[in-house]
Order: sequence, then C-alpha cells, then structure tokens
Amino acid sequence: MSPKLTGNAQRRLLALVPAVLVLLVGALAFDQARNVVADVQEVGRSHGIIEGSDAVRARAVDAETGQRAFLLTGNEAFLEPYVGARADIDRSLDSLRRLTQAEPAQLARLTTIERLVSERFALLDTGIVLRRRGAADAASESRLMAGKNKMDQLRSLIGDLHAQEQDLLAQRRLAEQRSVRNASVAVGVAAIIALILSALVNLAFSRALTDRDTANLALRRVNEDLEHQSNQLAEQAVEMESQAAELEATAEDLRTTNDELSRTTSAAEKARDFAEDARHRLERVLDNLPDAASVFDSEWRWTYANPSAARTLLTLGVDPSEAIGQVLWDRLPALRGSRFEKETLRAVRESTVVEYEEYVRALDAWAETSIVPLPGAVMVFSRDITRRKREQQGAQLLGDASRVLASTLDYEKTLEAVARLAVGGVADWCAVDLTDSEGKVRQVVVSHRDEAKIKWAKELNKRYPPNYTGPTGVGHVIRTGQTELYADISDAMLVAAARDADHLAIMRELQIKSALIVPMIARGRTLGALTLISSGSGRRYDEADQALAMELATRAAIAIDNAQLYRSALAASDSKSAFLATMSHELRTPLNAIIGYQSLLAEGIDGRLNEPQLVQLTRIRASADHLLGLIDEVLTFSRLDVGKEVVRRDEVRLEPIIAEALTMVTPLAESKGLKLRAETVDASLFTDDGKVRQILLNLLSNAIKFSDDGEIVVRSSVDRDSVAISIIDPGIGISVENIARIFDPFWQVEQRSTRKVGGTGLGLSVSRSLARLLGGDVSVESAIDHGSTFTVTLPIRRGVNT
Ligand code: ADP
Repeated sequence: MSPKLTGNAQRRLLALVPAVLVLLVGALAFDQARNVVADVQEVGRSHGIIEGSDAVRARAVDAETGQRAFLLTGNEAFLEPYVGARADIDRSLDSLRRLTQAEPAQLARLTTIERLVSERFALLDTGIVLRRRGAADAASESRLMAGKNKMDQLRSLIGDLHAQEQDLLAQRRLAEQRSVRNASVAVGVAAIIALILSALVNLAFSRALTDRDTANLALRRVNEDLEHQSNQLAEQAVEMESQAAELEATAEDLRTTNDELSRTTSAAEKARDFAEDARHRLERVLDNLPDAASVFDSEWRWTYANPSAARTLLTLGVDPSEAIGQVLWDRLPALRGSRFEKETLRAVRESTVVEYEEYVRALDAWAETSIVPLPGAVMVFSRDITRRKREQQGAQLLGDASRVLASTLDYEKTLEAVARLAVGGVADWCAVDLTDSEGKVRQVVVSHRDEAKIKWAKELNKRYPPNYTGPTGVGHVIRTGQTELYADISDAMLVAAARDADHLAIMRELQIKSALIVPMIARGRTLGALTLISSGSGRRYDEADQALAMELATRAAIAIDNAQLYRSALAASDSKSAFLATMSHELRTPLNAIIGYQSLLAEGIDGRLNEPQLVQLTRIRASADHLLGLIDEVLTFSRLDVGKEVVRRDEVRLEPIIAEALTMVTPLAESKGLKLRAETVDASLFTDDGKVRQILLNLLSNAIKFSDDGEIVVRSSVDRDSVAISIIDPGIGISVENIARIFDPFWQVEQRSTRKVGGTGLGLSVSRSLARLLGGDVSVESAIDHGSTFTVTLPIRRGVNT
C-alpha cells in the first residue's frame, strides 16, 4: 500500500471520530427532547381532562336550565340549548374516555359519570315528554329531587375527577420541567461539542481546502496538461481520422485490387491452362513440322529440337539427344560469328522476327531461317529451300542466258557470256566444245569462278588435250547425244582418268567433286557439249541440275543454230539483191533498146506506118513503159534492201512536184473515167525531188488502180517543220488486218479474180522506205468500201530528221 493511501485512510478515520461523537450527543439530546415532548403531551392531556369535565358539568347545567324553561313555558325553542348541551356532553365524554385511557382510576370515575349523565338525561327527557303531553306532573317534585340528586352526584364525581387530574397535572409539570432541563443540558453539551467539532472540522476543512487548492492547482495543471494532451490527441485524432479515411480508401482500393486480383488470378489460371494446352498443341505441331524448329534459352542452350531439326543435326554429325541442354557453340563451333549468330542477336535486340536465306555449305543446301525472339528464349525455324532456290537460280540463269544469247549473233562471244553465267550460278567450271564445219570437235569456251584459273585451265587443256574419241566424256556425249552425270567424283575416278602423275596431281588440286556433260542439240543436230564442274563449292549435281544444264545447252545450241542460219540467210539475201540488181540492170538495157526502136518506128524513120500499125506500136510502147516501171521498182527495192539507194537533196518546191506527178497519171485516170483534183499549198523543201515524185506516183497509181469511179484528191498542208501530202481515193478500201501488212515487200491483198490488177507488191514497201530515207514516212487510213487516204510526211528543212 502506498503512503499516500495510508494518509487518506487515517484522515478518513479521524473524520469519523467527531462524526460519531456528534451522533452520540445528538442521540442523547434527541432522547431528552422526546421526553420533553411526552411530558408536554401528558400536561396537555391533564388540561384536556380538566377542561372536558368542566364542560360536562357546565353543559349539564345548561341542559337542565333549558328543560326547565320548556317545562315552564312549553316553548319548544327552549329545548334547542338542551339538545345542543346533550350533544356537546356526548362529544366531551368521548374525548375524556380517550384521554383517561391510561389512568384506570380516572377511567372508573368517568364510567360512573357517564352513567349518571345518562340517568339524569333520562329524567329530564321524561319531564319533556310529559310536558309535551300536557301532563300535570311534568314538573313533579320527586323527579326534580331525583334529578337534583343525580346532578349532585355528578358534580361531586366531576369534582373528584377534576381534583385527581389537578394532582396529576402538578406531577406532570414537574416531570416536564425536569425533562426540559435535561434536554437543555443535552442540547448545550451537543452545541459545545458541535462547536468544537465544527472548529476542528473547520480546521480540517481549511487544511483540506488548502490541500484541495493545491490539488486543484495540480489538477488544473494536470487538466491543462490533459487539455494539451487532449488537444494533441484531438489533433492526432483528426490526423488519425484522415489516416483512417486514407486507410479506408486504401482498404477499399485493396478490396478492389483484391477483387481484381482474384479475377485476374482466375483469368490467369484459365490462361495458364490454355497456355499449357496451347504448348502441347504447339509441340505437336512443331513435332510434325517439316521445317527444323529449335529453341534456345538466353544462354544459347538448346531446350528443344523437333524431329526435323534432329535429322539436320545428325547430318551435321551431332547427336540430337546429347545436344539438348548443351550450349549451341559447344556442339556447333562453326556457327560462332556466323550470320546466324548476328541475326539472332539482332532479333533479340530489336524484339523482332528476323528472316534470311543462306547457303549452308556443310549441308550443300539453301535454308530459309526465321528467328523468333521469345521472353528469355529464341525459337529458330529453318526450311530447306534448296529446291526452290536452285529452281530460281536455274530460271534466272536461263533467263539471263536467253537474253545474252539473243543479244548478238556472234555466238562465240555469247557462249563465253553464257559460260560465265553458269559459273556464277551452278558451276565452278564451265566449258563449251563445238563441232566445226569439218566435224572436228574443239573447245571454244572455258570459264572458271576464279578468273586467274581460266588461263591456267586453257594451258592445262593444251598440255593434256581432251580425248574426244574416248568411251566417255565430251566426245562421247557429242557422238551419242547422251548426257553424262558424275554426281560424286571419287579419287579412284581421278586416278583412272589421269594421263600421268602430274595430271593426277593437278586434278586432285582442282578438288573436282561433281561433273555434268550435256549435249547441245538444235533441230536434231548435236552441235557440241556443255560441261559443268563443281569443285570448291562442294555442290553435287543431281537430276534437277541435269535438266537445267540440258535446257541451257539447248538454248545455247538454238542460238548457235539461229546465228548460223542468220548468217546463211544474210548470205542468201545478199545473193538475191545482187541477182535482182543484175537482173533489172540486164533487163533494162534490152528494154531501153525496145523503147528506142519503137520510137524510131513510130516516128516513121523507116517509112510511114498505117493506122493499125501505129496502134500496135503504141501498145508495145505502153507495155514497155509498164515493164520499165516494174524493173525500176525492183531496182529501187534491191538498192534500198542493200542500203545502196543514194539520196540527192536540193532546195525544191512542193507544188510543181505534185503537179508533175498528177500530169503523169492523168491519162491513166482518164482511161478509167476518174477525176483528179489538187488542193495544195506550196512549200520549199530540202529533199530529193525524184524520190518524192516516185512516192507520189506510186500512191496515185494505186489510188487509180483500186478506184472505179469518183474523184481522187491530192491535198497538201504545211506546218513549222514538215509537209503532209494526202492522196484521198474513193476506192475499195483496205481491211484492218490487211492494213498491217500492205507495207511488206511483195505482199498484196488477195484480189477477186474478176478485178485483178497488176503489180509487184513492192510499191508501198518502196514508197515507205524512200520516205523514211528522206526523213519522213507514209501512213494510211482506210476502211473497206470507204476509200483510202495515204499520207506522206516529209521534213522541210535541211538536216531535220535526216
Ligand atoms: P501493188 O500495188 O504492186 O500490188 P503495193 O505495195 O503498191 O503493191 O500495194 C500492195 C497492196 O496494197 C495492193 O496489192 C493492194 O491490195 C493494196 N493497196 C495499195 N493501195 C491501195 C489503195 N489505194 N486502195 C486499196 N488497196 C490498196
């Protein structure tokens, strides 16, 4: 127990002592006071008894007096005090009975009094009744005496009671005085004690008050502290409230997040199941994929290889079951620094799928590789595209070769170009051997991937000339037209083919791996053989390569054949032109003689001719002129054909040329009843007027030839650089399909037998060639039965388009 508590308990005990004292003194005073009260009550009772007995006595007298007055007067009004006195006596007797209850002697007296009162009133009542009846003895003596006796007894008894009560009263007053004194003493003592106690209490209180003040001060301080703390607490509470709000918000967020998390979790679980399922499916798909598929982790460790990838590994001499879990470079060190490594690093760095094509020497195959970056891994797909690639290369080679072959007719040069193409595409070596006109085979082209080796190869060829008569090789292929394919050339084969030790050493050094010799056949003739050799590239020829080589050889053969044919065609054409020129020239001389002699005859040098003879001569002349025209046409054509037509330009006027041509054809037009009209403008040209005239004559004679009636119009127009002369006829016209061909030499539209007109089929060809020679052209617009318009355009100035 702490000392403070002990002090408190003591103080409480000390406070209890005066309280007990006050209580005891109080109890004593209270007892004395109660005695006083009891004595006062006793005194009061004695007074009540005395007063009551006096009242009984007095009222008995009053009743007697009233009765007597009635008896005397018979007036009822005097009975009123009688009745009232009787009632008062009854009440007083009742009161006396209560007051004398505790005093047996007095009670006995009272009982006698009551009896006497009742007997007295009985006598009085009898007198009253008698009086009312009017009886004479109403106031009888006896009864009055009897009444007087009763009254005397009553008075004496009441007197006894009175005296007795006076005694009692005296005693009671003494007792009362004693009690009052005792009570006063007790109250005085109590007052003193109370005063002392109150002084003590006051002292105690003042101490207590001081203590209380001190305590109050302390309490106030504590209260202030508490208030301060309370304020702080309130602030903290506010803060906590806001923190609580924040916490609530956070809790709400957490709840939301939790909900979302649980949703996400379930979604994630589903996604995981789905992913698991997808992984199984993916593995199934990958397992059945024809492409090689591998997965590497971020440390380049193999984590997956599908069966196709496993086969590829086996080909490269790697056991696929050992490769899984191993680092790629440990198994395939050759891939370090390769394009594969670079592209994979790029795919990972750029987070993009990288695809590339590459020739894999170790596999002698082309691969199309796709690198797919995954989180913490890369997936690699490799597709064998050798076939497609070789087809592409083949198509490319054939296309290039065709272009080269078609570019020139110098086939020795084109063969060299083709051999170079083959070396770039399918071979390390390429040679072409051809049979010459005497049937001897000779190597015309040899090409090598390495330029430096070409010279060396040629020298080797000289030192060890190929044996074209052997049972195999180029000679055999040319003889039989059969391809020879040596897919794998072994060392034993080299030994067998070597002429001597040097030859063998050279061939070994050449690292010949595979060879292909195909015949070059065109129009059923084997012109030579194409040889393809693979060495350093390690390529092994197969059926597809054989087909490609044959196609290449055939195209080359056709090009050689075409070139040879063209050369012979050129030679033939030259002979034809020479023949035509000679022929025309040779025909012209006698024809000129015929015309000359016809003129002499017509002029009558050798005698006058009669009319029929002159008509015959005119016909001869017409035929000769016609023939001369045809011969001139053929001559011009052959001169143009061999490029020997000479242009003689001069400053000339257009209109006179047109007028001249029109004059020349007028007889012909008139003979057919056709009209000729000119709508011309003049212009000055720097051109060969003879050739312009010849062109116009050709076009005008065609217009007349192919028109039956109507008008032929010649219209000219001039612009800044050129003139245009149109010959417009109303004739039979030309169909669209024939228009394309009418300028070909010797070509004529099929004519109806009924209206056959003559001609060589050279007129338009010669006209266009002449116009082009002059820097112009001839064009046509025509439709069947709607006539034709042939237009010649010619440049005006010197040097324009010439
Ligand atoms: P030719 O007249 O000697 O037959 P051309 O070269 O002059 O030879 O004409 C070739 C062909 O073009 C003619 O045979 C004829 O069928 C057709 N042709 C030329 N000019 C005309 C024309 N004005 N109207 C219809 N057809 C024509």
